[in-house]
Amino acid sequence: MADAPQEIEALIDMMARLPGLGPRSARRAVLHLIARRGQLLAPLAQAMQAVAETARECLNCGNIATADICPICASEARANGELCVVEDVADLWAMERAGVFRGRYHVLGGTLSALDSIGPEELRIPRLLDRIEAENITEVILALNATVDGQTTAHYIADALEGRVRVSSLAQGVPVGGELDYLDDGTITAALRARKTL
Ligand SMILES: [Zn+2]
Repeated sequence: MADAPQEIEALIDMMARLPGLGPRSARRAVLHLIARRGQLLAPLAQAMQAVAETARECLNCGNIATADICPICASEARANGELCVVEDVADLWAMERAGVFRGRYHVLGGTLSALDSIGPEELRIPRLLDRIEAENITEVILALNATVDGQTTAHYIADALEGRVRVSSLAQGVPVGGELDYLDDGTITAALRARKTL
């Protein structure tokens, strides 16, 4: 089976673990990289090294950053009292791409799941509750996916925050089972503008 040198096979094996890439496309990608060693392979290796050394989670919100506190949490201009709760960083970046939300974020790092034994402590829910007073939050906007686990998580957070702060949810427009990352900017904008208080 090993029809490439060992080092190259090792690279193909690692590439094949990336989402969306199987063994066949990993092999093709590696051949493509080797053929463009100067323009692509070497700069890619350097870029990966740089990210491996600098990327970390924002200690406040869970965003991926290159400092302990991400630029959004560090910006006073984003402290407008609105806090948008998302499942993962891809959702945060999708909201940022849409460019309509001017507050801060909180990345849960997943959803509650009885099946996978994921409770509030496994997510950043305790930290979320701490941030309400610490950052004078007036509205929490739940931008969770329309999956069963996403909605269970939304209800849990809404209950935990009841009477402490206004809680709203993105309006229709987020398709059932749909992930924010796959929505176009216009749909995200419409869903945020038409959000409903829970
Ligand atoms: Zn942050």
